[in-house]
Amino acid sequence: MSYFKKVRVRIAPSPTGDPHVGTAYVALFNYVYAKKHGGDFLLRIEDTDQVRAKSSSEAMIMRSLRWLGLEWDEGPDKGGSCGPYRQSERTAIYREHADLLIKSGHAYRCFCTAERLDAVRAQQREAGVTTAYDRHCRGLKDSEVEDQLKKGQPHVIRLKMPVSGVTSFVDEIRGVVEIENDRLDDQVLLKSDGYPTYHLANVVDDHLMKISHVIRAEEWINSTPKHVVLYDAFGWEKPKFAHLPLLRNADKSKISKRKNPVALTYYQRAGILPVTLMNFLANMGWSFGDDVEFFTIEEMMKKFDFKDIHLGGPVFDTVKLTWMNAHYMHKMSTDQFVNFVRNEIFTDDYLRALKPFVLERMSRFEQFVDNNSFFFNGALDYRGAEIIPKGKSTSDIMGMLSGLVEKLDDLYDWEHERIKAVIEAYKDEIGWKPKDIFMTLRLVVTGRKDSPPLFESMELIGREMVRFRMRDCIQALATMPPAPIA
Ligand code: GLU
Repeated sequence: MSYFKKVRVRIAPSPTGDPHVGTAYVALFNYVYAKKHGGDFLLRIEDTDQVRAKSSSEAMIMRSLRWLGLEWDEGPDKGGSCGPYRQSERTAIYREHADLLIKSGHAYRCFCTAERLDAVRAQQREAGVTTAYDRHCRGLKDSEVEDQLKKGQPHVIRLKMPVSGVTSFVDEIRGVVEIENDRLDDQVLLKSDGYPTYHLANVVDDHLMKISHVIRAEEWINSTPKHVVLYDAFGWEKPKFAHLPLLRNADKSKISKRKNPVALTYYQRAGILPVTLMNFLANMGWSFGDDVEFFTIEEMMKKFDFKDIHLGGPVFDTVKLTWMNAHYMHKMSTDQFVNFVRNEIFTDDYLRALKPFVLERMSRFEQFVDNNSFFFNGALDYRGAEIIPKGKSTSDIMGMLSGLVEKLDDLYDWEHERIKAVIEAYKDEIGWKPKDIFMTLRLVVTGRKDSPPLFESMELIGREMVRFRMRDCIQALATMPPAPIA
């Protein structure tokens, strides 16, 4: 009799940044699989990295998934029978489970200091062997462990990996995956601060939440053998595993924000319809068959099977996305069109926020669209733009913009005083004159010299579009050197 009574799947994003298209991609395939089989789709927030986890990121992930219509059956905001669904609220559970493994002899306490581990790694590098923990504490006697504990020595808990043989599992897409056990390190399960690693928390939760199918991105495939060992150590039935191919840039590298926007919030701001993005993602690695590219998610559910996923490395091609969006836009009814423009572009909130900055710069309302296009536009045209101050080079500007956009990536509370503080601090850090950096930024984010105050304009244009324009400008500069500011 199986432990799994029905299909239950999950996505388990770590809330460390902007909601990623890869999360939506994996969520879509999980959602389709669950609904096809009358199962449940769960949202679990993996926020045990206390340094990097952000509540604003969690909120954005939820908003973006809902925007796409990927509604979960159980999750942090909804509850369910297996909660809590936020890992930071489950730390006691992980500690109990790590203790269970110690008691059953599948895990051990490791008291090695960071210095010792560094020294071991350095020696291994010198000897030209793979760096791994040398299992020094695996052989400690009970009395030695007691001694260290009495002294209050900080320690981690490690999994005893099998030292010979192979660990294997069946991937629903790839078939049998095997790894030689001597290539597996004694994985840390619980860190010295009492927080679990991804591996422990992920396996314990998948089991307790009765996840029957782990459908996730290819980048986790190397972790799966460790998870298999963990399931066996606990004596638990394993779920089925399926690793979806990674989304790629056009040059086949792993999709990254330096080459393509990757934030779902950007695509929403850019006016990509949720129906387009879902259909586009459904075509990534999976095909409907018969050269059919446009289909609904319900139609996908009927036909979906892991065996139709190909591993070629699907390219997240924004030109294709735009082409598909045109198809859906052209099919909009008059009501849909009017509602979209009113609810997404000329919204009451946006117009109210713009009013103090735009009204005083107009004398006839016919100027509204032309004067304020940059509040609504996407990419600006930098050809021939005079964005390079005297004494600076193209590469100075590119360097300045890429350093700044990284800082702005971390600014979630997008408010003009905070934007100002980040930019002022960055200006001092790189030693640029206010005039140079502010005029360049004004031109990059608004395309005009005479726009309303810079920081307020940045707030109004929005976090997504400001960062997009900065990155877009860096790319434009790489291909066409513009004229200097007169
Ligand atoms: N927290 C992991 C992530 O950020 C979860 C990976 C998994 O699905 O196991 O994607």
